[in-house]
Amino acid sequence: MALEDYRGDMDMCCRCSACKFIPMQKVKGFQFANVCPSISRYNLHAYSGGGRLNIAASMLKNGFKYTDKLLDIVYNCQMCGACGVSCNYAMDMEVLEPISEFRIKCVNDGQTSPALDKVIKNLRKTGTMVTGAKGKRGAWASGLKLKNAAKEKVDVLFHVGCLTSYNKDYWKLAKSAAKILQKAGVDFGILGDAETCCGGRAYQMGYKDDFLKQAKKTMALIKKTGVKTLVTSCADGYQAFKVLYDRFNLKGNLEVLHITEYIARLIEKGKLKPNKKVNLNVTYHDPCRLGRLGEPWIHWKGKKIPGDRFVFDPPKKYRRGTNGVYEPPRNVIRSIPGVKLTEMTRIKEYSWCCGAGGGVNESNPEFAIWTAQDRIDEAVSTGAEAIVSACPWCEKTFNDAIRESSSSLKVYDIVELVEKAL
Ligand code: SF4
Ligand code: SF4
Repeated sequence: MALEDYRGDMDMCCRCSACKFIPMQKVKGFQFANVCPSISRYNLHAYSGGGRLNIAASMLKNGFKYTDKLLDIVYNCQMCGACGVSCNYAMDMEVLEPISEFRIKCVNDGQTSPALDKVIKNLRKTGTMVTGAKGKRGAWASGLKLKNAAKEKVDVLFHVGCLTSYNKDYWKLAKSAAKILQKAGVDFGILGDAETCCGGRAYQMGYKDDFLKQAKKTMALIKKTGVKTLVTSCADGYQAFKVLYDRFNLKGNLEVLHITEYIARLIEKGKLKPNKKVNLNVTYHDPCRLGRLGEPWIHWKGKKIPGDRFVFDPPKKYRRGTNGVYEPPRNVIRSIPGVKLTEMTRIKEYSWCCGAGGGVNESNPEFAIWTAQDRIDEAVSTGAEAIVSACPWCEKTFNDAIRESSSSLKVYDIVELVEKAL
């Protein structure tokens, strides 16, 4: 699909601004009613989901004239999809897809962000989007005696992801996940130094060709192992394997599970029993790409019925964010003795982005931290001592925001809490 293919969706935008907030029917109060970090930060309609559709529609009609302001609007968006979910509460139209195609067009036209170019150059050269990555990718696993899935047959492949592999501060997440799987007796392996980037963040940044190249390479490697199930603890990786690879017909029959889904399954089967008390009052942050953007891709083909109404034959099914992974992480948290879960206002499909998505972490770190700070404030308002998430990017961005504030909120990944409880 190209931007032109979403002309009808963009023309459907009635500029109602619903894409800026939790739907009126669901809103719980004045505080934390915003869902779009971009419009909340920059306070100009052009920075909202609808605003971006209006600009793209106008450019399709009048020609593409790029200015610095336009590119500022295009790149200061986390591609978090909250706009689409709120819009789709009442409307049947695509919102995130045309926004994403708009960015892809900018990249294809050479209208890029220098910071994101740097990241992609790094991917092309070194195979990871973590710039300045040093050392071997599998170094985190040293001493754990894990199976090498490239050499030994295993039931499950544990895909660690770039940030967790290369940032020593987050090795703890990979180690915790591996120890949990060991404890449950799962026959799993890793690819270690041979593991490759899923490419998902390249797609978010608008570099579709780079994503496809990387995805094909990674999928070929996974296929070689012969595994039927892939488990990852990175929400970006989860969305790439589960949704993007399926969308571009690369996934085949591979079962893709987030570590929280897998742990929930192991607890249910009695293979894991978190029984040590962890006295902690927590709140849970739904990562965008595990929640609303993690919902399965719907392969649909159809034609618009001639006439003014925007309806299709067969009827088009929209992904409204309701089928994301919401209960498994909550069930795992609830299974830990002593942990009390208090929910924030913006949860599940209306979750507020951590700030790191869409390349904003790299292109505008100040905006990423501003966004994370808003989430920290929301978490603190629940009375929780800690915010718990299920993605290394969320944990890193929250930690960055906390370092710049006076908050004493603690940040954990679910795997860290589970390991404490075993
Ligand atoms: S994108 Fe949807 S919610 Fe936003 S202004 Fe347009 S129609 Fe309204
Ligand atoms: S994708 Fe997220 S940041 Fe971008 S316009 Fe939509 S809600 Fe705002």
